[in-house]
Amino acid sequence: MAGIQDVAQELNVGIIGGGYAGMAAAVTLAQHGIPVTVFESAKQLGGRARGVLYNNTQLDNGQHILLGCYHQTLKLIEQVGGNIKEDFLRLPLQLTLHNRFELKAPHLPAPLHLLLGLLGAKGLPFGERMRASRFMLAMRNARFTLAHDTTALELLRTHKQGELIRLLWEPICISALNTPVHKASAQVLLNVLRDSLNGARSDSDMLLPRINFSALFPERAEKYINRHGGAVFTSCGAEAIVPMGKEIELVTARGTQRCSHVICAASPTSSARLFRTVPQLAPIAEQIEAIPCQPIYTVYLQYPERVRLPHAMLGFDRGVAQWLFDRGQIAGQLGLIAAVISAEGVHQELEQEQLVQKVAQELHKQLGITRVPLWHQVIAEKRATFSCEVDLRRPAQITPLPNVLLAGDYTAGAYPATLEGAIMSGIRCANEIRKAS
Ligand SMILES: Cc1cc2nc3c(=O)[nH]c(=O)nc-3n(C[C@H](O)[C@H](O)[C@H](O)COP(=O)(O)OP(=O)(O)OC[C@H]3O[C@@H](n4cnc5c(N)ncnc54)[C@H](O)[C@@H]3O)c2cc1C
Repeated sequence: MAGIQDVAQELNVGIIGGGYAGMAAAVTLAQHGIPVTVFESAKQLGGRARGVLYNNTQLDNGQHILLGCYHQTLKLIEQVGGNIKEDFLRLPLQLTLHNRFELKAPHLPAPLHLLLGLLGAKGLPFGERMRASRFMLAMRNARFTLAHDTTALELLRTHKQGELIRLLWEPICISALNTPVHKASAQVLLNVLRDSLNGARSDSDMLLPRINFSALFPERAEKYINRHGGAVFTSCGAEAIVPMGKEIELVTARGTQRCSHVICAASPTSSARLFRTVPQLAPIAEQIEAIPCQPIYTVYLQYPERVRLPHAMLGFDRGVAQWLFDRGQIAGQLGLIAAVISAEGVHQELEQEQLVQKVAQELHKQLGITRVPLWHQVIAEKRATFSCEVDLRRPAQITPLPNVLLAGDYTAGAYPATLEGAIMSGIRCANEIRKAS
C-alpha cells in the first residue's frame, strides 16, 4: 500500500458528506490553513444527527445522548463556537429503570463513584450488587481488554451477572452499541465502559443537547470553515471519484473539482457506491457492504405542557420504549416526550400508529399519564448504525489510494457507531493529510 506521504503537491481537499465525520475533518484541516470544500448531498448538514422541524417544533431525527468521555466531540463543538455549559443539560451518572432499578453515582472520584454507586443501587439484593462491582474490578484489572472477543452476553454470563444483565448491562449495551447483547462485541462494550466509567468522574456524565443536532456542530462548523477560507455546499452530492495521476477528480452536482485529496465521509451505502467504480477501492466497497445494520426508532409524543417525567431521562424495564426523555426538562419543550427504541426487535413489525399507541399505553400504565398526545411523530431510522458485532471487520481510514481517505462512524476504531467515533475518524483522516503537507 502506498504511503500518503508519497503525495507531494499543493493541498486542496474535497470532503464528501457533511455529517459529524466530514465536518470534523473539514474543521481540522481548515484550522491548519488547508483549503477544504465540503459537498453534502442533502439540503441540510448533520447526516444521521440532524435537526428535523415538525409541527413548528424543533426535533432531531433521533434523540441523542453524549457522554462526558466524548472529549473530541466536546472539544470541536467548543472550537467552532459552542458552549458546552449552555448547549447541554449535564447529568451526573444516573440510570433509573422506573420502579425497578436505580443506580446513582455519588460525588466521589472515579472509579469509587461507580463502585459505590453499584453497591448502593436500588432494586437488587446486596449479593447481585457485589457481583456487579466485582465484574467492574475484574475488567479494570484486565485493563478492559479481552484475549479474544466474544459476545457481551457471554462475557456477562461468565461473570455471573444474573439479573443485572437485564437491569443494567443490557440497557447500557443497547444504548451504547445499538446492538443486542447476544450479538454485541464484548470488547467494544468494554472500550465504552473503560472510557466512560473508569476515567475521570465527569467522563461518566450524560449530556443531553438543548439545541438540535444540525445547530450543535455542523452549522457552526460551516461558519468556521467559511471564516477559514473553505467552502461548504449543500444539496450537492458527489457522484464519482476519479483518480487522475496524483490528483483526484471529484464529480459533483455542481461540476468537477480537482483535489489533491478526497475524504469520503458519506454514509456507508453511498461510500460503497462511490468506491465500487474505482478498481483500487472496490474491495473496500465489498467490505462496507458486508457490514450489518441496526435500526433506531424515536417516538415523539407531544402532551399538554404540564405533563412531565420524574426524571429528564428514564428507562422502562421490559417496555417497548427503552428510554424516555423529557424534552421539557432538557430543552424547555414542555410536554414533549421522546421515547427511544434502539436495535432490532418486535417493534419493527408494528405499524407506526400501533407503535405510538403502545408507547402511550406504557406511559399511562407505568407513569399514570392519562392524557392523549396532542400530536405524535415517529422517526424510524432503519439503517441507523452498524451492528457492532463480535470481530467485525471495519474498513481503515487509509485506503490503497494514497490520496483517498475514508471517514465515518463505521470505519476502524475502538468505539461503536457514535458521534465520538465519527468525529475521531474525521480527525484521523485530516491528520493523515496534514502529515503529507
Ligand atoms: C436515531 C439515531 C440515534 C442515535 N443516537 C446516538 C447517541 O445517542 N449518541 C451517539 O453518540 N450517537 C448516536 N447515533 C449515531 C450517530 O448519529 C452517528 O454515529 C453519526 O451521526 C454518524 O456520523 P457520520 O458523519 O459518520 O455519518 P452520517 O451522519 O451518515 O453522515 C454522512 C453524510 O454524507 C451525506 N452523503 C451521503 N452520500 C453523499 C454523497 N454522495 N455526496 C455528498 N454527501 C453525501 C449524507 O447526507 C450525510 O449527511 C444515533 C444515530 C441515529 C440514526
